[in-house]
Amino acid sequence: MSQQSRAFIEKIEASLEGEFAQIRKLRRQKQADVLEAFREEGVAAHYFNPSLGYGYDDVGRDGLDRVFARALGAEDALVRPQFASGTHVIACCMAALSRPGATFLSITGQPYDTLLQVLGLHGEEGSLARWGVAYKEVALGENGIDLDAAGRALQEEKDICVVYLQRSRGYAWRRSLSVEDIGAAIRYVKKVRPDVRVLVDNCYGEFVQRLEPCAVGADLMAGSLIKNPGGGLAPTGGYCAGKKACVEAVANRLFAPGIGREEGSYAASYRPYYQGLFMAPHVVAEARMGALLVSTAFRKLGYKALPDGADGGDLIASVELGSAEALKRFCRAVQHAAPVDAMAVPEPWDMPGYADPVIMAAGAFVQGASIELSADAPMREPYIVYMQGGLTLDHVAIALEEVLDAFVAGGLACLPE
Ligand SMILES: *Cc1c(COP(=O)(O)O)cnc(C)c1O
Repeated sequence: MSQQSRAFIEKIEASLEGEFAQIRKLRRQKQADVLEAFREEGVAAHYFNPSLGYGYDDVGRDGLDRVFARALGAEDALVRPQFASGTHVIACCMAALSRPGATFLSITGQPYDTLLQVLGLHGEEGSLARWGVAYKEVALGENGIDLDAAGRALQEEKDICVVYLQRSRGYAWRRSLSVEDIGAAIRYVKKVRPDVRVLVDNCYGEFVQRLEPCAVGADLMAGSLIKNPGGGLAPTGGYCAGKKACVEAVANRLFAPGIGREEGSYAASYRPYYQGLFMAPHVVAEARMGALLVSTAFRKLGYKALPDGADGGDLIASVELGSAEALKRFCRAVQHAAPVDAMAVPEPWDMPGYADPVIMAAGAFVQGASIELSADAPMREPYIVYMQGGLTLDHVAIALEEVLDAFVAGGLACLPE
């Protein structure tokens, strides 16, 4: 049986050679960009020394900011283990750029689930709404950002502090936005309203295209270090990058006005952050090839699945499985193929903040790291599973083999001869 799955996967991999070559070509360019950033900023062995107390003059911390800024094509960056998650760093960016009485305008529809509470749509304590910041959104159109509708919103709202875009598709059934589309939208926004600042949720976006949003006009972008730019090695944290004044505002928000980026020690050494950034172009390419392999295999078996090409740069494979039974089988097989906690059997549970029970497969070296192979899904129609990450393409292929075996055994798939 496993023999049959393996042969099927090998055939799919061969059919994807063109897309894989495109991904590898970009990987080489991005690796050169990152290496250049390390050399230009003079990264040296003593940057890995730990720091204590207030952390004044921490060369490891300050050097990491500079290397990130250069690698991401931004004027400035703030990279900190004190950011607890992607949500935390984006929330700091949202607050740093917002002002009471002004409007926060999203032009890519509803933001990622966890950010809704930051906006305070239900009046959450400490949210932007509680602080007097209004929220408006423009839904995405069929083919991405609806510039006409965005233009109308920009005319209607008198005082706008932030225009917000989410690059990756998160849990929506769409393609991720390309940096070209983001650049076109920013040029349009700045023509109508040169005074507003543009913030991009760049989670899952790093190193999937030649340029990052800051290179096409974004004032500020942010992401998680247990996703792409941590390269699977960063143990926690987040980053933001962009215009100097915006980054300084975020530092004041995270720490305190007047202290900003001058304080914050880290006794554990920034070495894994540097090494993770260095590995990131490679790891991201492996995960992209893995996502394409999984989605292509399932489309071959008659399921609806994304991504459907290398251009969107997605690291998340979404497969519409159609039944609770298929969803459970999928997640249990992925868990069984994990290097850590392989013995665990995922069960759906009532996760805080979600309307339906959620099932999750995650056997990662860093808790919750979604650059490592994981799969999750809310238990609701049409039973879409989201499988993301993978430090190596081989690991994703091996996990896919387990999934296909489980599907064949359960009568959910019939592999072609
Ligand atoms: C993961 C993610 C977030 C939030 O990051 P966490 O680390 O899970 O808090 C925000 N936006 C997008 C698009 C994401 O993929």
